[in-house]
Amino acid sequence: METASHESASTDSPLEPGLYIVAGPIGNLADLSPRAAEILRKADVVAVEDTRVSAKLLRAAGSDRPMVPYHDHSNDTLRQRLIDRMAREVVALLSDAGTPLISDPGYKLVRDARAAGRFVTSLPGPSAAIVALTLSGLPTDRFLFMGFLPSKAKARGDTLAEVAALRATLIFYESGPRLSDSLAAMADGLGDREAAVVREISKRFEETVTGTLAELSQRYADSPPKGEIVVIVGPPGEAPPATQDDADAALIEAMARLPVSKAAGEVAKALGLDRRELYARAMVLKG
Ligand code: SAM
Repeated sequence: METASHESASTDSPLEPGLYIVAGPIGNLADLSPRAAEILRKADVVAVEDTRVSAKLLRAAGSDRPMVPYHDHSNDTLRQRLIDRMAREVVALLSDAGTPLISDPGYKLVRDARAAGRFVTSLPGPSAAIVALTLSGLPTDRFLFMGFLPSKAKARGDTLAEVAALRATLIFYESGPRLSDSLAAMADGLGDREAAVVREISKRFEETVTGTLAELSQRYADSPPKGEIVVIVGPPGEAPPATQDDADAALIEAMARLPVSKAAGEVAKALGLDRRELYARAMVLKG
């Protein structure tokens, strides 16, 4: 097992060489943290997705540091060169928007930096997924980030089928032109659940629209919205309470494997029913 720790970044001390994952804004430049801006000013090199997009943020942060384009599908030589530099230099990783690695490049760079024993740290900041979740009004205790759904219908249906039974809120990134079709596919594959379409977070036309998946699909069918979009889908509804027939079937199955009291305990847990009542019922069934 490997561990790495570091003193909390102080603004005066020189930076430890390594990889600094820098979360940028998702629409409002003022959301770049002072600590993130400082890293961008002090880095030896900033690895970016698109130099034109990141040039604006670097300017806003008062940074004149050189940039190199980086994608996870960049060739291994380029990645290795960055890993080598991290041994004695500060390499910052920046995305076009939000937190690197979240539907953005960086995973392989972090993986290889760790394997090489480099210092790795992350400057926390916005990610559209989490901000949208907080805006949705849907349960936040358990959630799954799904990224972008595949655009081909079969792959999209398969992906939705994989998660349909999960008792968790789901988070999807989407685009305006695909929105209505994706919402309809979600209603089809997940059931017509409560959902929220969250648009243009932290920008002038920020908007959250809530409804069921089918209602939202209908709403956007003829007017695909502009801008950047996150779809939040609530968990499936509570399963209907178990019937007497369900309980009997489960008891008979469990009693074939277990003593009566253990069978009653197992079924009580699985179906959320009273253990003592199930025990009495099990004795009747047995008799
Ligand atoms: N790394 C980014 C993050 O941490 O949120 C996500 C990058 S991903 C390539 C871009 C997608 O994120 C957009 O297509 C949209 O679904 C979502 N997104 C980014 N900024 C957004 C914003 N301001 N409002 C709503 N969604 C946004």
